[in-house]
Amino acid sequence: MVGAKSIMLEPDLLKSALEAGPDAVIISDHSDAIVFANRQVMALFGYEPEETVGAGVELLLPERLPPQHTIHRHDVLASPQARPMGPELQLHGRRKDGSEFPVEIRLSPIPEAGLTTVVIRDVTDRKRVEAELVSAREEAKRASLAKSRFLATASHDLRQPLQTISLLNGTLHRLVSDEQASAAIAQQQQAIDAMSRLLGGLLDISKLESGTIRPDITDFTVVTLFEQMRLEFASLAASKGLQLRIESCTECVHSDHSLVEQILRNLVSNAIKYTRQGCVWMRCLQESVRIRIEVLDTGIGIPADQMPYIYDEFYQVNGTTLAREGYGLGLSIVQRLVKLLGLELDARSEVGRGSVFSLLLPAAAKSVRSAGTVCGRTAVREAPLTRAHVLLVEDDPAVRGATRTLLAVEGYRVTAVASLREALQAAQQSEAIDLVIADYHLDGETGMQVIAALREALDKRVKAILLTGDTSSFIRDIPEDSQLRIASKPINADELIDLLTAFLSPERALTGSSDLP
Ligand code: ADP
Repeated sequence: MVGAKSIMLEPDLLKSALEAGPDAVIISDHSDAIVFANRQVMALFGYEPEETVGAGVELLLPERLPPQHTIHRHDVLASPQARPMGPELQLHGRRKDGSEFPVEIRLSPIPEAGLTTVVIRDVTDRKRVEAELVSAREEAKRASLAKSRFLATASHDLRQPLQTISLLNGTLHRLVSDEQASAAIAQQQQAIDAMSRLLGGLLDISKLESGTIRPDITDFTVVTLFEQMRLEFASLAASKGLQLRIESCTECVHSDHSLVEQILRNLVSNAIKYTRQGCVWMRCLQESVRIRIEVLDTGIGIPADQMPYIYDEFYQVNGTTLAREGYGLGLSIVQRLVKLLGLELDARSEVGRGSVFSLLLPAAAKSVRSAGTVCGRTAVREAPLTRAHVLLVEDDPAVRGATRTLLAVEGYRVTAVASLREALQAAQQSEAIDLVIADYHLDGETGMQVIAALREALDKRVKAILLTGDTSSFIRDIPEDSQLRIASKPINADELIDLLTAFLSPERALTGSSDLP
């Protein structure tokens, strides 16, 4: 070093330097005998100075350690540079009273003197804090898992009664003609819908947290997503006097179709919710190997200081909730989905002018230009298929009763049973079955098993609707089947009747079945 003067340290000066540090220091000779021990050695190990000098290094180390220590020490002497005996070795010191404590050791050889300096640090406190941190993290993990399990169970168990209430409400709506009663029923339906939305959000969060959602990555056209959004949101936008604009696009992306659809659904729903006038539009831009899908609105906007929080669970920007339409879950679901799919999302917003949410996805390697098919619910309900015979398999008595009542009110003949055994009996005893509706989670069996057994017993691929609350994991394993529809619970009365009507209608047109009026 320029200007630095190297000095020979006096032995006394050297000794005080060795005593000054917070660590225990010993110097050992070539035979591992201790030739010097500082005061901290006494404090740490409980020996008097004369008890250590002359003793072997092993005095301070538990019996199980010396061989390893010796090997390491000889390595050190062979390549003389200071080095720690790493934390991975889990070293322990041994006090005079035989008790052990965790230590970290640093060896510095002094080759010209044939000596080694051994610096020993007591890491009891650090190890305890580390252990506390590990246990706190484990505890937090357990609590988070328990919360997810509780959420999943609670949401699942709430879905059945909610399904019952919703179907009964739909039945009442069909039976009651009194104006005031109808208004009350309509309000009740709004409350049920709000509850369904909250439940759906909680279920989505719990499924995403539990890691049960496995993305199914394929190539698909953006236009299929846009058309689906048009189908779902055109009438809602129109009812608020908003223009819903969808720019034409031919881009194809590579991701999970239904999960990306769910991201867009939440973004478009927010855009409509937080826009009082003007328009909401969707567009798609190619950016080299990525596709940018944008949802833009001319809505109330989000203050800059609130932007970092909008993805938090249950967070709502003060004063923006126009009605109790949301619960602050939509964007937190969006963010989790974006993370799960490895996509990117960014948002820009200006209060009073509007917001832009952009989703960046990988472009598909090869172009899939066909528009694809969009399966939406039929907007126009056809006349009910009076007297078509439905076999309903549902083990929850309340849901079974409510579904049977609704179908009967709509003019269907219904046989309602609780299990596979009863379903097979009914198939033998009653007249021809036009359609099976089966819940997926039955007591000890699945709706798919019921449908398969019934088709075998009836010797025909009878049409079937599978109702399920769990739309994620198993559905992808169900083989392609044009005679099967899958509907998620809770399903409201209108949705169920629309589905039945659309599903049964083509057959009526084709066969002109004598069962029909
Ligand atoms: P919510 O269910 O309340 O809509 P979200 O998690 O979807 O919850 O959104 C969180 C908050 O972000 C909303 O309460 C709203 O204040 C704000 N926000 C989200 N999207 C928009 C938008 N397009 N325009 C204005 N504010 C928005």
